[in-house]
Amino acid sequence: MKGTTCCGNGGSKDAAESLIIIGGGSAAFSAATRAVELGAGKVTIINDGLPTGGTCVNVGCVPSKTLIRAAESLHRAAHNPFAGIKTNGKLTDFSAVIEEKRQLVAQLRQAKYVDVIRDLPQVHLIKGHARLLDAHSVEIGEMRLTADHILIATGATAAIPEIPGLSEAGYLTNESTFELETLPESLIVLGGRYIALECAQMFARLGSRVTVLQRSEHILPTETEDITNALTGYLTEEGLEILTAVAVEQVSRARQGVAVTAIINGEKREIAAAHILVATGRKPNTHNMGLEHAGVLLDEHGFIQVSPTLQTTLPGVWAAGDVLGQNMFVYTAAYEGALAAENALSKADRLADYTALPWVIFTDPQVAGVGLDERQAVAAGHDAEVATLPLSYVPRSIAARDTRGLIKLIRDKKTDLLLGARILAPEGAELLMELAMAIKFGITVRQIRESFHAYLTLGEGIKLAAITFGKDVAQLSCCAT
Ligand SMILES: Cc1cc2nc3c(=O)[nH]c(=O)nc-3n(C[C@H](O)[C@H](O)[C@H](O)COP(=O)(O)OP(=O)(O)OC[C@H]3O[C@@H](n4cnc5c(N)ncnc54)[C@H](O)[C@@H]3O)c2cc1C
Repeated sequence: MKGTTCCGNGGSKDAAESLIIIGGGSAAFSAATRAVELGAGKVTIINDGLPTGGTCVNVGCVPSKTLIRAAESLHRAAHNPFAGIKTNGKLTDFSAVIEEKRQLVAQLRQAKYVDVIRDLPQVHLIKGHARLLDAHSVEIGEMRLTADHILIATGATAAIPEIPGLSEAGYLTNESTFELETLPESLIVLGGRYIALECAQMFARLGSRVTVLQRSEHILPTETEDITNALTGYLTEEGLEILTAVAVEQVSRARQGVAVTAIINGEKREIAAAHILVATGRKPNTHNMGLEHAGVLLDEHGFIQVSPTLQTTLPGVWAAGDVLGQNMFVYTAAYEGALAAENALSKADRLADYTALPWVIFTDPQVAGVGLDERQAVAAGHDAEVATLPLSYVPRSIAARDTRGLIKLIRDKKTDLLLGARILAPEGAELLMELAMAIKFGITVRQIRESFHAYLTLGEGIKLAAITFGKDVAQLSCCAT
């Protein structure tokens, strides 16, 4: 079978191979451009639900990060640590902040998605909900399309927990939160992972009274307690209320908005706010698509099961991005989209490789990580050693009068190879790539320690942390060696 044919208009067959992509987000666009580079004759992207570009540009990374930055500007203006300097910040027009965010989203959607395929005559964008019929055909309403290969890149959506009264009371998700026209006087955030915490701090800094309700004992439950306790402390100092080990019993409408009834530390408590934001996880967009019927195996949560080459259990059908349920980041979605297209069209059989995958939580201080933490390193059988450097030892942080956070390196004692790192620091994610490169290319802790790091950069903290494996950093003079 060559070229995409459409029984609706009797379409033509091209010599080169064809690809249908279900979903129009980052994984899809990356797959489409890679497929064209590989000589695909026709690539059809079918998107529905979110606008072109999917989650990241419309209701995820872009709106959240620009609003987080806006809130940070306000916070920094109001919290200047230097003597003799008086600053103040004031939110004067929340709807103008939202309007500017809208313009940025529209601009990036156009530049990074719409314009990218406008110049590729092989790529066609269709709007509609697609269902898979078999390994080569897809149906969109009355229309049926066929192609040599099919890629499913339908992403994920906010998972809504089954809490009595929640639907009736009404709630916000990432699709509605960044569109509020007025700043909520108060906000309950359900969840304690990255989306929940980023939004919670952002709204608190803009002026909302924020309460975070987290089911487990700690926020960021997959991280170690040194990180989660410190972050909890910093957020609490800023005025957020962080409640953990919370069992929510019910949500109801209240005079001022919504009220949550919950058991916290064995006691029943009612918390009221203007809005409730649900950020308790993501669920795959795999429903009503005929996937299992066609032979595509899903896991118990509905995420698509794939081989290491990203092929589903139906040969010829591939999957990429959030719909896989792992490493749900836009850069992994794009990586997987391109890889799946390559494996489909050029039979490359390349395996997905997530070695040294960096990740970031955009709170302030940021939480950033790569590789294993100390518990994971021991569980993986390493003779692991940890060096933790509080930022109060880093000259850049001291000079900036902001020593919140730490840098933690984990190495294998025998080989001196870096196994992982965790960073809690303002703009700490900018430090991550040196460590990711070290892990990926086998650079030892000693080699990091022996490399020049410019004095009075935050990056110098990496070198200091590396030195901490063998020395007490408190004893070093300036420009540590
Ligand atoms: C609030 C928030 C903040 C985030 N911040 C970051 C960040 O800072 N950095 C980062 O790396 N990642 C971030 N992410 C994650 C990132 O947005 C996702 O990992 C990424 O967008 C996933 O891309 P995708 O192509 O797999 O899916 P999506 O972008 O979700 O695209 C899937 C598209 O398919 C459509 N669709 C679904 N079903 C069908 C169907 N049957 N037929 C046709 N179309 C269909 C959907 O409506 C959507 O348009 C964030 C996510 C959220 C929610």
